[in-house]
Amino acid sequence: MAAPAASTPTPGRAARKPRGEGQWALGHREPLNPNERTKKDDNGLNVRARIENIYAHGGFASIDPADLRGRMRWWGLYTQRKPGIDGGRTAVLEPHELDDEYFMLRIRVDGGQLDLAQLRAIANVSSKYGRDTADITDRQNIQLHWVRVEDVPAIWREIEAVGLSTTEACGDTPRVVLGSPVAGISEHEVLDGTPAIDEIVEKYIGDPALSNLPRKFKSVVSWLADVPYEANDISFLGVVHPEHGPGFDLWVGGGLSTNPMLAQRLGAWVPLSEVAEVYAAVARLFRDYGYRRLRARARIKFLVADWGVAKFRQILEDEFLGRKLVDGPAPELPEHPIDHIGVHRQRDGKFYVGAAAVAGRVSGTVLAQVADIAQAHGSGRVRLTPYQKLLVLDVAEDRVESLITALDAIGLQARPSSWRRDTMACTGIEYCKLAIVETKATAARTIDHLERTIGRIDGSISINVNGCPNACARTQVADIGLKGQLVPGPDGTMVEGFQVHLGGGLSMAQGQNPNFGRKLRGLKTTAAELPEYAERLARRYLDGRKDAT
Ligand code: SF4
Repeated sequence: MAAPAASTPTPGRAARKPRGEGQWALGHREPLNPNERTKKDDNGLNVRARIENIYAHGGFASIDPADLRGRMRWWGLYTQRKPGIDGGRTAVLEPHELDDEYFMLRIRVDGGQLDLAQLRAIANVSSKYGRDTADITDRQNIQLHWVRVEDVPAIWREIEAVGLSTTEACGDTPRVVLGSPVAGISEHEVLDGTPAIDEIVEKYIGDPALSNLPRKFKSVVSWLADVPYEANDISFLGVVHPEHGPGFDLWVGGGLSTNPMLAQRLGAWVPLSEVAEVYAAVARLFRDYGYRRLRARARIKFLVADWGVAKFRQILEDEFLGRKLVDGPAPELPEHPIDHIGVHRQRDGKFYVGAAAVAGRVSGTVLAQVADIAQAHGSGRVRLTPYQKLLVLDVAEDRVESLITALDAIGLQARPSSWRRDTMACTGIEYCKLAIVETKATAARTIDHLERTIGRIDGSISINVNGCPNACARTQVADIGLKGQLVPGPDGTMVEGFQVHLGGGLSMAQGQNPNFGRKLRGLKTTAAELPEYAERLARRYLDGRKDAT
């Protein structure tokens, strides 16, 4: 059959040039959408000087709109949602109509590692400048709310004095690097990835050469499979090479959001000393070849999907590393998923205690109390997990029970129900401008209901509550994944609710296959009915498990 007519130019009309995806490496340097234009006009990192010199003095009204809705993210700042705007209006209002004059401020905590001076500094700025708000995010960050631009320089001074920063905590940048919350202390770890995380942060965070990526670049460096490595743009997961010894297996192209994909192995083994170099090479590849026409296709996962891993690895080696990577084996996953909650022995004989707030919600006051409690129990370090939990490290055995009692008194449970332990929630409509529904309070009501009606169970049923399709709390990889949307209420009017995804999960242990939850058309609930709906689902699952035994 003849080739389709479309490939033959119509007589009299010039052949149309292929539109391209806006890839810099192919010569497309002209911005193809407003976000690319904003980034080309000025590097997002430059907004810091304007915040310090102009906006902090002139207040909210003095902020250039392109900075306000674009470049301020490069310093961890988003305007928060104006209170009282319901989810039905999220998509129809102009951005400025959703903007409050207050900001969400994200503090990056690379590897989730904090010492007590850092914890106290966060607590202090939360109390002084953030109305005592603080959420532990599922990327091991801390988010404050109600921050005024006038106070941002003072916040920077205070947190930077203890080695923390908000640099590239948001924006089209290399975001916080996830690490195992038990790096350096776990009995099961062979090689601690923390030096590589430190090197990445020192060399590449705030580096103007990597500050204009097509979109965000999320990463993991972890020996243990206790972080969601399959859901990140780049992951280094611990593996022992039969000839070269301990190192890291390289994965690329994971991401959830509206078009979920799992990261894939490149089949390459990277020694600890080269992790930062390979990280930067992949980031540069993404910068130069990543798609920049449509925001929805601008994550590295689309490039990996289109190229395949063999081509991706070859271009990485030939054009960005200038050498071949060493072939390596797949990592060996643990027998059981690693749970950080409760009491666990460290390899030095001390103990760490993992505790759960409700869906990561704490406060400046609580964080200050955690610092005092940890210190009183001989600990100088805490860790945040990518499951919105908090660990206190280095506790002597005879101090563990006292620590647990003290944490419990401030709302952090080390022996929580599985409902509290395995429920996460994103920011939601309380502060997020993209949200359609409320999340944190809904998660709290659901946990409370399940604790009262079903009580404690063996095993776990994870519940991830998300305020919109963006899946910040990983909708697709929970046993019960909830995607916020408007649904018909009892009288037919549209109300806050959720599309339900069932049976999702990542492979965190041997025998577990990664899986995106099934999304069946009819599986929807209103937010008001979620607690009872979740109870029915859980009972059905538990009954099925009983029948199977
Ligand atoms: Fe906001 Fe949606 Fe992300 Fe939740 S999932 S934090 S509502 S963008």
